[in-house]
Formats: sequence, structure tokens, C-alpha cells
Amino acid sequence: MSTQETRTRIVWDYAPAPESPDHVRLRDSYGLFVNGEFADPKDGTRVPSISPSTEEPVAEVAFAGPEDVRGAIAAARAAQPGWAALSGLERGKYLFRVARLIQERAREMAVVESMDGGKPIRESRDVDVPLAAAHFFHYAGWADKLSYGLAGREAAPLGVAAQIVPWNFPLLMAAWKLAPALACGNTAVLKPAETTPLSALLLAEICQEAELPPGVVQVLPGDGATGAALVRADGIDKVAFTGSTAVGKDIQAALAGTGTSLTLELGGKSANVVFEDAALDQAVEGIVNGIFFNQGHVCCAGSRLLIQESVADVVIGKLWERMGRLRVGDPLDKNTDVGAINSAEQLERIEALVAAGEEEGALRRTVACELPERGWWFAPTIFTEVAPAHRIAVEEIFGPVVSVMTFRTQAEAIEKANNSTYGLAAGIWTDKGSKAFEVASALEAGVVWQNTYNKFDPTAAFGGYKESGFGREGGPAGLRHYVRLS
Ligand code: NDP
Repeated sequence: MSTQETRTRIVWDYAPAPESPDHVRLRDSYGLFVNGEFADPKDGTRVPSISPSTEEPVAEVAFAGPEDVRGAIAAARAAQPGWAALSGLERGKYLFRVARLIQERAREMAVVESMDGGKPIRESRDVDVPLAAAHFFHYAGWADKLSYGLAGREAAPLGVAAQIVPWNFPLLMAAWKLAPALACGNTAVLKPAETTPLSALLLAEICQEAELPPGVVQVLPGDGATGAALVRADGIDKVAFTGSTAVGKDIQAALAGTGTSLTLELGGKSANVVFEDAALDQAVEGIVNGIFFNQGHVCCAGSRLLIQESVADVVIGKLWERMGRLRVGDPLDKNTDVGAINSAEQLERIEALVAAGEEEGALRRTVACELPERGWWFAPTIFTEVAPAHRIAVEEIFGPVVSVMTFRTQAEAIEKANNSTYGLAAGIWTDKGSKAFEVASALEAGVVWQNTYNKFDPTAAFGGYKESGFGREGGPAGLRHYVRLS
């Protein structure tokens, strides 16, 4: 056999590189975190939190009922005047400590986030956990400079904030919500999602370790009923919600006329627009990052891919080839690109929408790959021949599924991108700077990335238009929603 033949026969593959969970200090059972302590729920309900990649319980958590909700709000209310009376410099020191402790426990938090939620360890290790710490650092810096972040105006805290976060970025969303609220002198009651409560409970332990005054942060695991009770309870001054548009609308209706301040960060159907003059290989990497990051469980996922007709075949060909090299499987394996679907319910929603896509006539291609026997999985999928009215072009799939449409002119690209009830994010791929700015300013989206996608930074505001919600999180803009200005 010649050397040439031998070489071409080498098949490169990755050996498994699992991150060990041995160092994780999880308790068997977690209580509700109220007034600086872990407490039993009044009605005794405890529920296991299941790993979506193994279907095994990771730990048991208490579920908060209405009486627990009232108790948590009372603790937050009692602590608020003292917390607000501290100088900004002192509050900042506490936030700084929380940030440092997240960094110290980063490896453990990343593993727990991947075990509990199914996302690849590469993402929880390199994105979720460092960004969560960065948000606390960022707002630690603002705590004694509030008036500089608020155009020189005097600011008073709102009071007690009820904060409800979803399952796709459990720790990061908790940081987005808690850090600005606390920096401004508010106290908080945080409800993590039913399927991913554990990193928020580790964050509660960190609040204890940081000796945060009791009552400044409460963490109440529970289900939708806990969330519904929390937003309707007396004694709340502010509600901050991230999740589905349906629940966001329900909360908005419940709060109408109450005077409670509200910010909503809801769904999206974001357009990722590729012009013919773009660096196409770079764009393909951006498309992959835009839709397959976190299994597509991303509110700003680039789920509507708009490609200029002249390069559509080339881009789709390169994308399909790249999709075939994505590694789907064990979230704790450092080589994994696409982890587990967060829950059986979410898998059903994805499957239903994908079935609708096929029924309505779009062309489906799903990567053939071996999926683990246990757990919930969905292989990367692309739909072409998609019409703007198809459900897969309109509704949030929240899975690793991209719907491709084409356009001929810049005007058509803008019209198609804006043809959505949502307006959270968008991406533009072009080598022409003037075109990028012109298109960006015409897009109805809260965040527009140019020649990149899914880049998050604590200094940058994030939030939507239309049915993607209102209010901004991140940067000085994120302070505005936690203060009363005079
Ligand atoms: P939800 O909007 O139901 O969940 C978000 C958070 O709200 C969770 O903590 C949830 O608790 C809580 N919640 C549920 N019902 C209520 C209520 N009536 N009042 C107050 N809080 C409530 O999202 P789902 O988990 O049901 O996901 C459904 C779809 O929503 C997804 O397929 C996806 O399309 C979209 N979604 C969008 C997100 C985004 O970031 N934009 C995030 C999550 C989902 P619990 O988990 O206990 O039910």
C-alpha cells in the first residue's frame, strides 16, 4: 500500500473528553432560600430536578407555594430599606464578592449548569458562567456611580423586585436580573425555571458566602404556579420576566393598572441576513453559532436565515457540510457542540413545529448522527424552500432548526427581516460597512450584530421591540428599570 493511500485512509475522530462531575458539591435536597437561609416549603413539596441528557435526577428541590411566596416577599421588604441605606460603594463591594465567588466556583457551576440543563460544557464553561460573573462585576462598578449612568439624575430604588427566569440560561439570566436590581438598592425574589433550578440555588449559597445581608436575595424554585403567584402577590414593586411571549402577555395583563413596574424579555424569530458580498465561510460559522448554540434554545437565535439568491446554493452547501461535522451528545463532553434538549415537553414542541414545516411543504434535511439512547435529543436540521407564511418561518421553534429563505435586493432583505411579530435581534453579513449600517438602522430589532452573532457583553444593552418585549438589560440602560428618577 502506498503512503498516499495510507494517509487518505486515516479517519480523524475525537476521543471522548468528559468533564468529571466528581468535584461538584451538590446537596441531595435544596430548600427555598429566604432571609439568608435555606428553609423547608410550608406544604413540604419537593421535586427532583432531572438531567435532560440522562433522565436521572440530579438533586431534589423544594417548590414554593403561595405562603412561601408571601414569606419571601416579606423578607425582601424588611431587608430593602437597610440595603438601600448602604452607600453605593458598600453595595458594590457585595456584588464584587459575589462575582469573585462565581469565578472561584466556576468549574463546579459550569458542570451543574450542563447536568441540569443539557447545554454543552464548552458553552457553560466559556459563556454562561464567565458572563454571569462579568455582569456582577459590571454592576458592582455602577453601584456608586448611579447618577453617571442615569444622565446625572438622582435615583431611588423601586423596592422589591420579583424576577422570573427561564431554563435556557439559568445562571446567566439570574445574573442579568439580580446584579442591576441590587446595585440600585432593590431587594429581590428570584424564581428559576422548573427544569433548571440548581445553578440559582448555588448562587444562593454564594450569596450566603458573600455575607449578603439576609433578605436581599431570595430564591424560590417552583413551577409556573409559583411564578403566577409571585407576580400577583402584594408587596412587589417591580416584575422582570424572561420567557415565552404567552406568559409575558399574561403577566402584563395581570399587572395592568397596578402601578407595578414591568420589563419583559420574550421570544424572537431573529433574521440572520447574508449578502452576496459577505465572507461566506465566516458567515457559515456565524450561522452555525446563531442557531445551534445552546441547541437553539436562545431567545435571539438566528432562526430565520435570509440569503441573497446569488449565493444561496453555495451558502446552503457549505452550511450543510458544516452541520454534518457538529458533534451531538453528552453535554459534559468537552468536544460536544450540541447538547440535550432541555425537557421532554420542549422536544415535543420542536417535533410538532418540524412536522408542520414538512406538512406545509418546506424541504427538511436533518443531520444523520447517532443519538444517545436515554435523554432528549434533536439533531441539527435545516429547512429550505420555506415560504414566509410557513409556521417554521413565523413561530419560535427554540430548537436546533434553521429556516432558510432567499432575497434579491437589499430592500427585499429588510422587508423580509422585519416581517415578524417579534423584534429581538438580527445579524448582517456583508463586507460593505455602509450597507451594514444602512440595513442595521432599518431593521426592527433590539440588537443587530454585524459579521458576528450571539455576542453578549455586560456593557451592552439587550432587549426587544414588538412582541419580543420591552425594557433593556445590560449596561447603564439596565439600571434605568430598577430606579425611580427625580
Ligand atoms: P415559560 O414562559 O412558561 O417559562 C419562563 C418562566 O416563567 C419559567 O420560570 C416558568 O416557570 C415561569 N412561568 C410559567 N408560567 C408562568 C405564569 N403564568 N406566570 C409567571 N411565571 C410563569 O416558557 P416555557 O418553559 O413554557 O417554554 C415555552 C416556549 O417559550 C419555548 O418553546 C420557547 O419558544 C419560549 N421560551 C422563550 C424564552 C426566551 O428566552 N425568550 C425562554 C424560555 C422559553 P416554570 O419553568 O416552572 O414553568
